[in-house]
Amino acid sequence: MTDRIREFLRRRQDDGPCLVVDLDVVRDNYNAFARALPDSRVFYAVKANPAPEVLRLLASLGSCFDSASVAEIEMVLAAGAAPDRISYGNTIKKERDIARAYALGVRLFAVDCKAEVEKVARAAPAARVFCRILCDGAGAEWPLSRKFGCEPAMAADVLEHAHRLGLNAYGISFHVGSQQRNQHAWDRALAQAAAVFRECGERGINLSMVNLGGGFPTKYLKNVPAVKTYGTAIFRALRKHFGNRIPETIIEPGRGMVGNAGVIETEVVLVSRKSEEDEVRWVYLDIGKFGGLAETMDESIRYPIRTPRDGGETAPCIIAGPTCDSADVLYEKVPYLLPVSLEIGDRLLIEGTGAYTATYSSVAFNGFPPLKTYHI
Ligand SMILES: *Cc1c(COP(=O)(O)O)cnc(C)c1O
Repeated sequence: MTDRIREFLRRRQDDGPCLVVDLDVVRDNYNAFARALPDSRVFYAVKANPAPEVLRLLASLGSCFDSASVAEIEMVLAAGAAPDRISYGNTIKKERDIARAYALGVRLFAVDCKAEVEKVARAAPAARVFCRILCDGAGAEWPLSRKFGCEPAMAADVLEHAHRLGLNAYGISFHVGSQQRNQHAWDRALAQAAAVFRECGERGINLSMVNLGGGFPTKYLKNVPAVKTYGTAIFRALRKHFGNRIPETIIEPGRGMVGNAGVIETEVVLVSRKSEEDEVRWVYLDIGKFGGLAETMDESIRYPIRTPRDGGETAPCIIAGPTCDSADVLYEKVPYLLPVSLEIGDRLLIEGTGAYTATYSSVAFNGFPPLKTYHI
């Protein structure tokens, strides 16, 4: 919570939940990444918060961008970044979308199998490709599963295939899992990346780049290490596995760039109990899973929630959204402690909501409009 957001909310007239993002915090985060990893180029992961204000600010600061679709590429171009600052980092692309990205000037693409390499070779001749390798996501609160990337042992074949088809086999990427609270998670992935570099080298293909992905955390309920700590651990791991031949590196922060810049204001619609003896209250808010809080799925991300009555006695609550879908419960397995004096109409602040919220909100489920957003 910043003074600017507090002041904005104090003057706000309109009704309904809203997200307010303080662009000064995004600027500070960008500068912290640039300082902590001075030799890495920053490719902001657009999906975390693609608001034009965020993209324009980061473009003006010199950031590059990791985009996952043609629409995201167009948003970045509209924000003023040239196509040589954009990667198409999704490993799952339609061939005609690759061709559109190529026509827009994009020359850097992610792949994780030979079939995708073949699409890129046809639709984006001579472009640079990097191969994503699997990472187990241990230590991450929002692990990214096995959906993206190939086994490291296959990566050299994928890159050799790219090389034979006239592409520039450029490097390796991985993602250690989002909200990664262990700064040493990069070590094992870098060991595997270095092994692929060696294997490709033996085949006469010299890779140049390691894409260190995202995963840098933002503060929710638990404390997280500072970006500087990640920078130091990553540099050590690079030295350990690449010796004095450290490759070009890029990072793709999403959550760590915008998460702590945003606050959602929401209103308590109902406080009730399921029986007279029930000790746990149900607190229904005017925002839920379909209004932008999709990352409460499996109760993975636990946002700090502030109330105007903090400081008094608390008791456990189940927190739910306003829609008529029974999946629209935010926290039940591990209830939240909220003040016993909490009342209908109270306005709560959900902190750390600058990333992965607004664009997840549905267009009109149950008639609720998408989350209103303000970037100040
Ligand atoms: C989502 C994503 C990111 C951003 O991840 P964070 O954990 O939010 O930093 C980076 N790179 C790729 C390829 C992604 O898909």
